Amino acid sequence: MAAPDLSYWHKLRSQLTIPHEAFIDGRSVSAGDGQTLTSWNPATAERLVEVAACGEEDVETAVAAARRSFEAGDWSRAAPAERKAVLQRLSALMMEHREELALLETLDTGKPIRDAYELDIPGAAGCFGWYAETIDKLYGEVAPTDRDNLAIITREPVGVVAAVIPWNFPLDITAWKLAPALAAGNSVILKPAEQSPLTALRLAQLAKEAGIPDGVFNVLPGLGHITGQALGLHAGVDCLTFTGSTATGKRFLEYSSRSNMKQIWLECGGKSPNLVFADCDLDAAAKTAVQGIYFNQGEVCSANSRILVQRDIKDAFVERFVEAASRLKVGDPLDPTTDVGSLIDADHAGKVRGYISLGLEEGARMAMGEMPSKEDKSAFVSPTLFENVTPSMTIAQEEIFGPVAALIEFADEDEAVAIANDSIYGLAASVWTRDLSRAHRVSRRLQAGTVSVNTVDAIDFTTPFGGYKQSGFGRDLSLHALDKFTQLKTTWIRL
Ligand code: NAD
Repeated sequence: MAAPDLSYWHKLRSQLTIPHEAFIDGRSVSAGDGQTLTSWNPATAERLVEVAACGEEDVETAVAAARRSFEAGDWSRAAPAERKAVLQRLSALMMEHREELALLETLDTGKPIRDAYELDIPGAAGCFGWYAETIDKLYGEVAPTDRDNLAIITREPVGVVAAVIPWNFPLDITAWKLAPALAAGNSVILKPAEQSPLTALRLAQLAKEAGIPDGVFNVLPGLGHITGQALGLHAGVDCLTFTGSTATGKRFLEYSSRSNMKQIWLECGGKSPNLVFADCDLDAAAKTAVQGIYFNQGEVCSANSRILVQRDIKDAFVERFVEAASRLKVGDPLDPTTDVGSLIDADHAGKVRGYISLGLEEGARMAMGEMPSKEDKSAFVSPTLFENVTPSMTIAQEEIFGPVAALIEFADEDEAVAIANDSIYGLAASVWTRDLSRAHRVSRRLQAGTVSVNTVDAIDFTTPFGGYKQSGFGRDLSLHALDKFTQLKTTWIRL
């Protein structure tokens, strides 16, 4: 369904109630010490609301509520079919509130309303529906032991799960963690990113309405080094699932080793290569590469930010790429004709402009984009393409997390694979070729959790998503995500 027009969103905005309290043990509450943090609309620099900023005391209360609810068993020991019914209700409620959730997401992040309405909200609701359907279809196992024994292998929920979330797809990534964790019977404490807490807070209210028992789903907005760290170090948290930067992911490994050795699952940064071979459908490759880097303002962990193009077709590729990218409309995120909205905040936009300056200083050539200016304090950055990039340049190595692509030329397959794998990250990759053997050969050699052939960034509930190398470990989505939120119990019976 296409997104409603601009006037509709303005009208809805004037009637919108913006959630701002934490959600602990089934109730909306202020932070124990009364602290708040300001939620801004990055596109307009308008102050949206003061949101509770939870501290250690709130983490204690939430962990106790989560533990109590887990031990009580209303959710953890409910029949899978009962949990399924509640999660299906939640999925339906999210779609009933689709406009409100999309508007909250766009106001909070600056992402285009069309994407929030057509992709993020249905994606998050669909994720709850998908995991609701899995949970009454998972069977245990009987091990092939000798005849005198029966060994039964069952899955049990892990207990109290904490989920720490980034700001680029706040509700979608919340759903990727929460849906399988709840389906498996865990109690969850979610910490949204400080820049984008609003949809998670509204989701908690909808979850209660759907029938999630008190204490089973808690939301603690707050700062990373306070709320996030307290969850990471808490001995009452059994498992922590994280999406965010590699630097913060490493901290969680440390928190775990310093506390109770809680399981840590990490979905971290990326610098995904998009390999374009001369034998590909060039029009499709160039057009799709534009989406591969500029979708969601380039604030995508798996964004195809390194475009590797075979030397013979480089000029033809750049011409087509620039032609397609120059049609993108940058501007008001609430306008459904906007393709590229604002970045998450002016600070982040400043960092992205810093990388653009660095690209120029290091000798790359700007084929498209705007020269950065120190006076520019806005959260908007135009789609930018650099050519003449060498693999060792900073813009080819570091994750920029903005609408900046680095084009690197290669001579042959071996060189393309070597450049693609020359990264600390290994989240995703794309390959464009009409040669089936090459597609398989190259896919096998790429160090990445997902390889998309003749498309970019392919993703679905049915397929695992996650990285190699410093992009992290563990997988979101698909049945494999349930492995993180369950533990195996073997029960031996002597016959
Ligand atoms: P971030 O690491 O700064 O923050 C992520 C979360 O961690 C936030 O909730 C934040 O409050 C919390 N946090 C920050 N510092 C902390 C600390 N010291 N202790 C505990 N918690 C802390 O990342 P970000 O800027 O929000 O998101 C961008 C990053 O996320 C990028 O690197 C991007 O690639 C990555 N990302 C990865 C995936 C994936 O699936 N692999 C998806 C989306 C984003």
